[in-house]
Amino acid sequence: LKPAAALASTATSFPNTHEKIQAVEDTPYFIDNKFVNSTTDKFIDLPDPATNNLVTRVPQMTDQEMKAAVASAEKAFKSWKNTTVLARQQIMFRFVQLIRENWDRLAASITLEQGKTFADAKGDVLRGLQVAEAAIAAPELLKGEVLEVAKDMETRTYREPLGVVAAICPFNFPAMIPLWCIPIATITGNTLILKPSERDPGAAMILAELVQKAGFPEGVVNVIHGAHKTVDFILDEPAIKAISFVGGNKAGEYIFSRGSANGKRVQANLGAKNHAAVLPDCNKNHFINSVVGAAFGAAGQRCMALSTLVMVGETKEWLTEVAESAKKLKVDGGFEEGADLGPVISPHSKERILSLIDSAEKEGATILLDGRNYKNSKYPNGNFVGPTIIANVTPDMTCYKEEIFGPVLVCLNVDTIDDAIDLINKNEYGNGVAIFTRSGPTAETFRRNIESGQVGINVPIPVPLPMFSFTGNKKSIAGGGANTFYGKPGINFYTQLKTVTALWQSQDAVAKKAAVHMPTLQ
Ligand code: NAD
Repeated sequence: LKPAAALASTATSFPNTHEKIQAVEDTPYFIDNKFVNSTTDKFIDLPDPATNNLVTRVPQMTDQEMKAAVASAEKAFKSWKNTTVLARQQIMFRFVQLIRENWDRLAASITLEQGKTFADAKGDVLRGLQVAEAAIAAPELLKGEVLEVAKDMETRTYREPLGVVAAICPFNFPAMIPLWCIPIATITGNTLILKPSERDPGAAMILAELVQKAGFPEGVVNVIHGAHKTVDFILDEPAIKAISFVGGNKAGEYIFSRGSANGKRVQANLGAKNHAAVLPDCNKNHFINSVVGAAFGAAGQRCMALSTLVMVGETKEWLTEVAESAKKLKVDGGFEEGADLGPVISPHSKERILSLIDSAEKEGATILLDGRNYKNSKYPNGNFVGPTIIANVTPDMTCYKEEIFGPVLVCLNVDTIDDAIDLINKNEYGNGVAIFTRSGPTAETFRRNIESGQVGINVPIPVPLPMFSFTGNKKSIAGGGANTFYGKPGINFYTQLKTVTALWQSQDAVAKKAAVHMPTLQ
């Protein structure tokens, strides 16, 4: 293999600016701890969402290259699985430290390729870093169970790695989602094929560099690139035993069914439509600050974005104040000082968002704050959409039924908390939900009856920290939610239980004849 010329500069070449890059380099892939340029002739252009200038080209790798990456991971597994978890833990300590040291570089790559503000990109890195930190508890979490089940006989369990596993990532958290997978997959003894989003693989490439520097042996983490074709390769490759997917429903439902049909273990977190029920007794200022941050932060491109308000009773009158606050947000290039939200990922995504706002207007809703014509004079070619608030929405409207994934807040009105619970439970998605109230009993009723997997009580984006698990529900997770990401369920996902029953009896106790019946308790 020929190491890429860009090896040393792969990650350092991310400038903290949206200025046009003069010498654009292709993104290499990562195999055996080396960066390699693909020999493909098919590339996916990756533009800066703030300018639409080319940042890099991402290869649609050839089958031969992807097979080589899997062969490398298979080879690495043979020795990696036999290292002790304590040895793997030492590497994870170094990985965590390196992520901290490279935090700004990681964040800069995210702002440049994905568009979110630099401050928000630092949060993207932190939420992934915390998974790596929590994974350091693996020696505790991997402990098995033991019981004396009969005289001289004990049964004990071991958690063993699966083999080569794969991760298929979305564009919206270029560091966090790869870090939902790299630490837990590897500390449990698996080797990993990571496919970042073809729309922003830069952070994953920096993480690859840190994998190498942290001392992971060659082939424990390989990074491959491409779109649908690469996903199909992963789905059909027999050596890959498990797939972690995060992304939208179209791709995720396909990946879950084809991956499962091929006998793989699949965890798949999908799309969302997160609601907040707003009660008249809540702290109004806290509610307004919370919802404006959670609806418009990251330009609404978070799976836990609070995109839907259910205004109970007279709280519908508060929407003008919400709009006043949203109007003050600064929409700008992500590296700009004081930017609150950046552009959305692509011109196509912007068009889709605008057409969903248009549909709401046509279907009779009120556009209370209109970001459709937002223009930024410094970035005239960016994919900017200003914060938009749509009032008087009803559940039959397209803007309610679809995940918008942009800086758009849709608002519905109901009379009581029971109506709010009914409405929210009728929605197909069940990722996150919030309630704003000062009443403990109301919050408790809501918590008991709501069908979403992650509930915030006066907390707008209740993403669990990694000592818990990310527990979406309904259409927001494939397979009925059996396999959730990180926390103890994450350790379970990446390991197979082995149960050993051993008999150690003295020679004198050996029976005189063979027993042919099933043993009964004596
Ligand atoms: P996406 O589904 O378009 O892409 C995700 C991955 O799937 C990418 O790596 C892409 O290459 C691949 N892919 C895309 N279309 C495919 C297809 N037709 N066949 C095979 N593979 C395909 O998602 P995205 O736009 O990158 O990310 C945004 C979506 O992810 C939103 O719906 C968001 O809610 C969801 N998301 C969910 C969570 C969660 O934890 N529930 C977290 C982050 C993002």
